[in-house]
Order: sequence, then structure tokens, then C-alpha cells
Amino acid sequence: MTEPPTQPTTEPTTDQPVLVLNAGSSSLKYQLVVPESGHVLASGTVERIGEGGGDGGGGPADHAEALQQMQQRLRDDGVDLQAVGLRAVGHRVVHGGPDFSDPVLVDDEVLSRVRDLVPLAPLHNPGAITGIEAAQEAYDVPQVAVFDTAFFSDLPAAAATYALPRDLAREHRLRRYGFHGTSHRYVAGATADLLGRPLADLDQVVLHLGNGCSASAVHGGRAVDTSMGLTPLEGLVMGTRSGDVDPGLHAFLHREAGLSLDEVDELLNKRSGLQGIAGVNDFREVVRRKDAGDDDARLAFDVFVHRLKHYVGAYLAQLGRLDVLVFTAGIGQNSPPVRAAVVEGLGGLGLSVDPERNEARKNEARVISPDGSPVTVAVVPTNEELAIARQAAEVLSRG
Ligand code: ADP
Repeated sequence: MTEPPTQPTTEPTTDQPVLVLNAGSSSLKYQLVVPESGHVLASGTVERIGEGGGDGGGGPADHAEALQQMQQRLRDDGVDLQAVGLRAVGHRVVHGGPDFSDPVLVDDEVLSRVRDLVPLAPLHNPGAITGIEAAQEAYDVPQVAVFDTAFFSDLPAAAATYALPRDLAREHRLRRYGFHGTSHRYVAGATADLLGRPLADLDQVVLHLGNGCSASAVHGGRAVDTSMGLTPLEGLVMGTRSGDVDPGLHAFLHREAGLSLDEVDELLNKRSGLQGIAGVNDFREVVRRKDAGDDDARLAFDVFVHRLKHYVGAYLAQLGRLDVLVFTAGIGQNSPPVRAAVVEGLGGLGLSVDPERNEARKNEARVISPDGSPVTVAVVPTNEELAIARQAAEVLSRG
């Protein structure tokens, strides 16, 4: 039997890629990926946006120029966006505020609502907005916004609410939003796949440990608590962010050290965390220095782990039971000493790792607890770009 000739169609075929853009304040990460297969056609990062001039080595002036540089790099790599049949552009937008609980097709109204959220995410949303505008200009395909906060948009009120006057909280949209949601959602699903169990049956604690770090408690695929709050500063100790501090610290530093509130904000976001204690934010270097006998690096490691244990214990109590503790992102996937230290002494709660499994260097989802453990401990690589591409494809298929 002969196949009928292929007709041109406007329906996407399943090998058409989505361009995923993750625009930070001074960088633009991109990945061209086929959502169904996960096949990556190209990826990279354009850096130093807005740092142009002077020394002649500066980066692109703005996100529009960064997008042009990306296109040039794609052409240099032999990728023609017309020829590959680009299906959509998926944008990572950090803050979706109280409104966005799902990915959406970008139109003027969506863009203006994202703009309206800039006061909640002054460091993050402006880059996404200029990235969307530049991509709208450059590509005649649907643009989809995927929000980092979305997975946590229906946190139980008790977990999302700060104990502040209600009218003030309402007026300024103060609540715990949570971030890294795309990763937490993806990893929770991938963990269920790894275990061969329905997501709906699992109680999970997910530890996303990268440059930014966050924890979540996930009951049946739904987030019920998370460590980041109104901003990505709350919670775990991070590369350069303090995570939780006494809220009284701000007033204290203002009074006693003469710092303005903006200076305190900068201090806690950019000069604290591992960087503040150990003098370096790259976790590999912290471990290297610790192993070489550096006391500050040892303390940074211990504080990092102490805070992690604090959240694991808290979420175990919130969930009431735990099926699986999951490690993901740069540190979570690659640091056996952190994983061992977090579960150390928690045997009574059913948590332990098998040393050989924990030490194995594999870039794949795997169980690292001993067979038959009451609680499974797993390492599951995150893939935010693929998750964004899939969500963008899903939005398109909804029409
Ligand atoms: P981002 O949050 O920017 O996406 P990543 O998820 O890539 O960051 O995580 C970056 C962190 O992972 C850095 O602190 C880095 O030192 C750490 N990391 C990467 N590889 C290793 C490794 N082999 N051992 C320990 N830490 C690692």
C-alpha cells in the first residue's frame, strides 16, 4: 500500500521544537527543544546584557539585541528557525503573583498584568517582559508564559499566609508565593515515574539545591508547603542569599550598622549565604575548601545542611508521612556529601542512604536509599526547559 502524499498542515507535527527563553536581568538562556521527545536542537546562554560599552568587551545592550545574538549563534550552529518549524516560544516568568496559576498564551492583557507584578519581582520580571517583547517582534508564533510561582498558587492558606494585618497584606499582595515551581512540579512527576507509582499516592519532599535553593512538600502532586516566600530570599541557605533570618535583623542593621533598607536587601541577596560564611558561592569550592581544612567552609557546609534538615523535619510534620525525599539541581544531583549529611541521624524516621548508591556518579534518576527502606531517598535530575516546552505545547493544544 502506498502512503498518500503528505499535505502541508498547520497542525504541529511532534518533531517541531519550542524555543524556551529564560531571561534574567543580565542573561538570556535559550533552548530549542522538542517537547514530546526531549530532543534538544540547540541551547546556550547570552550573558552580560546591559553591560556593554567602555572596554569594548561588553555584552548586548538589551534583550532584543541578546535575541539577535542568539539567532546568530543558532545560524552559526546550522539551525534555521524557519526550517525547523518553530511551534512556539515558551518564556520563564519568575513571578506570576496572585493571578497566574497556569501557563498562558501571551497577549497584551497578559503582558500588562505581568508588568503590574514588577514591584513584587523587581529583579526578575523586567527581563522576562523585555524578552517576551523582543520574541514577539522576532517570531510570528504563539508566545507562552510559564510562571515559576504557579505550582504554589494553591498552597493551603495556612502555609501561604504571613501573620501580618490582613488589610496590609491584601493591599500589597503579601503572601508566600514560592519559586522554582516548574522544577518542583517536574521533579515530583519524574519521581513518581521513577518509582512506578501514581503521583496521586505519594507524599514527597523535594529539595531543589542549585545556586538558588528551595524545598517543597508535595502531597499527591499538589504543593502543600514551600520554603521560598514573597521573594526568593526566604528559606534555605543559598549561594549568595541568606535564606531565613530574624526579621528583626533589618531594623538592627539599620540602627547599628547604618545600612539603608536597600543595602540590607543587597547584603542578604548578594553577599550572604555560602558566600557570606565561606567567602565563595560555588558549592564545589566550598566542599574543596572544607576538605582542605578551612573552618569557614566547614561552617558554611554545616549551616547549609542544618537548614535543610530543619525543612525536611518541618515538612515531614506537615505531611504526616513521607514516601520519598528527592534531591535535584546542581548540588542536589551532584553532591553525595550533602545528601549523606541531610539524612544522617534520621534512621529513626526511616531515612537513610546506601553509601555506594549515593556516591555513584550518574546523571539519571535513581534511588539511593537501601532496598526496603521505609522512606525512599532519590536523586532526580530537573529539566526546567523541557518542562516549560511541554507546558507551552499543552497550552497550544488546548487552543
Ligand atoms: P542554577 O540554580 O543557576 O540553575 P545549578 O542547578 O546549575 O544552578 O547549580 C549550581 C550549583 O551546583 C553550584 O553551587 C555548583 O557548585 C553546584 N554543583 C555543580 N556540580 C557540582 C558537583 N559536582 N558537586 C557539588 N556541587 C556541584
